[in-house]
Order: sequence, then structure tokens, then C-alpha cells
Amino acid sequence: LFISFEGVDGVGKTTQVKRLRRYLRDLGRETVVTREPGGTPLGKAIRRMLLEGVVADPNGGKNAKSVPVDIAARTEALLFAADRAQHVAEVIRPALTRGAVVITDRYIDSSLAYQAGGRELTSYEIRNLSMWATNNLLPDRTYLLDMDPAASHARLRHGEDRMESAGDGFQSRTRQAFLDLAAGDPDRFRVIDAGRSVEEVWETIQADIDALLAN
Ligand code: C5P
Ligand code: MG
Repeated sequence: LFISFEGVDGVGKTTQVKRLRRYLRDLGRETVVTREPGGTPLGKAIRRMLLEGVVADPNGGKNAKSVPVDIAARTEALLFAADRAQHVAEVIRPALTRGAVVITDRYIDSSLAYQAGGRELTSYEIRNLSMWATNNLLPDRTYLLDMDPAASHARLRHGEDRMESAGDGFQSRTRQAFLDLAAGDPDRFRVIDAGRSVEEVWETIQADIDALLAN
């Protein structure tokens, strides 16, 4: 069983992922929790490039400092796809093959919502790239935690990364992109109102998981 959590930053994905992991482990299911970008050692290096926009100074020798780099839109898409390819090969597929439940904090829909929303690449291109990178692996279930980005932004405890600071309408456009994706694939998606309490959100997920496990 392969489950992804999606939604803009600060909607509570990580909290619900932990909740679900505890629930599944209490049921005696082997459960692997992972995230994108950065679900593997290689992916962590890619994550740093993408989110901080830096690499180790190529001329810096052994104790190289970090220096900023430009990342073109196509490069960015390829780096996210490279992260996902490694993530699927190294973590997700082996776990699914063992019969584990895999829960990932972000997957293909984040790429579609972030990279195809308002930048120069089409969702068709991003989708094909990701399907190639993963050899066509899609989640069995995707929980889209949805709420007003102004409210979710206020919940964030950490500083903004390169993506999160990408301008005002960005989070709203991304939210809408997620909702459009969900509308296009109602079998896979469940859209959950994340403006409610952690407990209420969890109860909605739990009910759905119970139904999935019963099948
Ligand atoms: O949720 P997390 O903090 O791990 O996400 C990292 C950031 O990467 C998010 O702020 C999101 O804006 C961005 N992202 C992206 N494209 C993806 C996945 C994440 O732009 N495919
Ligand atoms: Mg974040």
C-alpha cells in the first residue's frame, strides 16, 4: 500500500504522517515513512540545491563553503525527478515489494502543482518526466490536505525556503493546482479540510485507511 500526503506548506502533512505511522504500526503493519525531496542520501544533496539554491563551492577545495547557483526551470524539474527516481529505486519499491505500507510526505503531485503551476513547463511534460523517473509508480491513495494558504503560512515554524518565498499569489495558485489535480483523479485523491483540528483531520484519514485496509 502506497500513500502520499500533499498540500501547500504548513497544512500539517508531517503531523498527520506521524499519526498514520503510529496507527499502522499499532496494527502491526510494517510502515516506512519518507519524504520528498530528500528521501535518500543523494536526494538530501539535491534537496539542498533546490531549496537553498546553493552547492559546495566547486573551486573551494576540501573545506568548500556553499555558494549560490542559478537553477533553470528545466534543470529544476530534472532535479526533482532525479530525487524521485532515486527515492523510488532505493526506498519505495523495495519496501512495497516486502509488503510494507509506504507513506510519503509529497510525491508527483507536488511537482505538478509547484513546477507546472505558473512556470514555463507544462503539466504534461512534468507528468511524463515523473512517470519515466518512477517507472510509472503512482500512490494507491493521496491525501490532499487543503486550507487557505494565508492561514497555513502562519503555522510554519521554520524560515522560508527558496520556493516558499517565491511571491504572493504563489501559494494560492499552488493550492488551486492541487485541487485541480484532485478533481481529475477522484479515485486516488481524498481532499481533506485541513483547517480543522489535528484530531478531526486524523479521524477523516483513519476512516479512509480502515476502508482501504479492509479491501
Ligand atoms: O514539505 P517540505 O518542506 O519538505 O517541502 C519542501 C519545499 O519544496 C516546499 O516548500 C515546496 O514548496 C517545494 N517543492 C517543490 N516541488 C516539489 C516538492 C517540493 O517545489 N516537487
Ligand atoms: Mg517546507
